[in-house]
Amino acid sequence: MAQRVVILGGGTGGTLTANRLRRMYRPDEVEITVVDQDDRHVYQPGLLFVPFGLTHPEDIVRPRARQLHDGIAFRQSPIDHVDIEADEVHLSDGSVLSYDVLVVATGAVLVPEETEGLTGAGWMDKVFTFYSPEGAGALEAALATFGGGRLVVNVIDMPIKCPVAPLEFCFLADWYFRERGIRDRVELTYVTPLDGAFTKPVVSAHLGGMLNEKGVALVTEFNTGEVDGADGRLVAYDGREVPFDLAVVIPLHGGAPFVARSPGLGDELNFVPSDEHTLQSKSAPNVFVIGDAANVAASKAGSVTHFEGETLVENVRRYLGNEPLEAGFDGHANCFIETGFHKALLIDFNYETEPLPGHYPNAVGLPLLKESRLNHLGKLMFQWFYWHSLLPGRDIPGIGATIPTAGKTDATPASREE
Ligand SMILES: Cc1cc2nc3c(=O)[nH]c(=O)nc-3n(C[C@H](O)[C@H](O)[C@H](O)COP(=O)(O)OP(=O)(O)OC[C@H]3O[C@@H](n4cnc5c(N)ncnc54)[C@H](O)[C@@H]3O)c2cc1C
Repeated sequence: MAQRVVILGGGTGGTLTANRLRRMYRPDEVEITVVDQDDRHVYQPGLLFVPFGLTHPEDIVRPRARQLHDGIAFRQSPIDHVDIEADEVHLSDGSVLSYDVLVVATGAVLVPEETEGLTGAGWMDKVFTFYSPEGAGALEAALATFGGGRLVVNVIDMPIKCPVAPLEFCFLADWYFRERGIRDRVELTYVTPLDGAFTKPVVSAHLGGMLNEKGVALVTEFNTGEVDGADGRLVAYDGREVPFDLAVVIPLHGGAPFVARSPGLGDELNFVPSDEHTLQSKSAPNVFVIGDAANVAASKAGSVTHFEGETLVENVRRYLGNEPLEAGFDGHANCFIETGFHKALLIDFNYETEPLPGHYPNAVGLPLLKESRLNHLGKLMFQWFYWHSLLPGRDIPGIGATIPTAGKTDATPASREE
């Protein structure tokens, strides 16, 4: 009898996992079922460009089932809960899926209602988020008619998807208002709960310097307790306030709500604790986790999800074959950071290695930690790779799952310790 793999979530991680497993096994060996609540697969990195009119929501959304190889079953239904004792997934339509292996790939959800005032007066009028297609589309209209004033970009709290995206928004906003000839009338402020522009010290200093050069004020260690859209104020728990005419907010993130209804599966934020290297969940040996749904120390990014895929699929194979798991995932992440004016930076890091200068993936590759047109082209081209290579589960030539050291100027463990 075929073994049953059920994959929860048909986004980046769920799709690439299903397609990689389908290539590995015949349908009579392993039955693969993907569950998602809707049929709109969003290329989320494209959301950054929507507010600036550089792309449109309909250009970054495709049907989910079309991204899945033949022989993969797609079930469209919200997930109600998982019973990890009985190895069963209960769907909201009342049906039950039994599994031998479960892969949780349900990502992160936005929970704006968790912040006082955020979805109250002014929401989608002068308070927006570009983290959803609807929000990004509404923000495009608001930016187009913004004639000047105080624009704040606020990350409410970590973790968030793609932690560099709010910084990219600031850089693109600076460029956008310069192009429109009204930059001198716009006061741009970046408000973050972190003690610098970013989490990693080297990049934080670099990006903080760039904000400064572009005239974007930086407010750090600001823990937003309230967004007062009526009066145009961010209010921190310590009483500090930042006034605004237009606010772009990255709401709190959590794991999918069904995790809370699934005893033993998740943590208090509904993320699923997992082994950082094998991606096996800590809740049950036959449950694996990929992408934003995982509580691991890696960034919540599509690149991480992609790199995790190789280890996860290998470990599902090993689990089904009663072999020991491989601790193959090293936390590898890389991000293009759009800086405006047709340029971008690239950073590459993992659990242990800070982003370093040099080139990626080897000495003749893309420049690291340095603005270049080549990186900007790389960021634009990535959408093609996403649909045609990453989701189908093909390897991208020259790009391995673990962090490369070849092109980096200072990547040896010995030099890191100095
Ligand atoms: C604005 C923005 C910019 C970004 N830019 C970049 C970038 O430049 N580079 C980068 O690497 N990453 C970027 N990312 C992050 C990247 O998109 C995510 O990290 C990646 O998509 C995570 O994949 P995933 O499979 O974990 O989750 P997702 O792709 O979000 O998939 C989760 C799926 O689970 C489904 N689901 C959830 N709950 C349920 C339920 N109860 N029932 C049924 N289905 C459910 C959802 O419908 C969804 O399809 C960006 C994200 C945003 C928002």
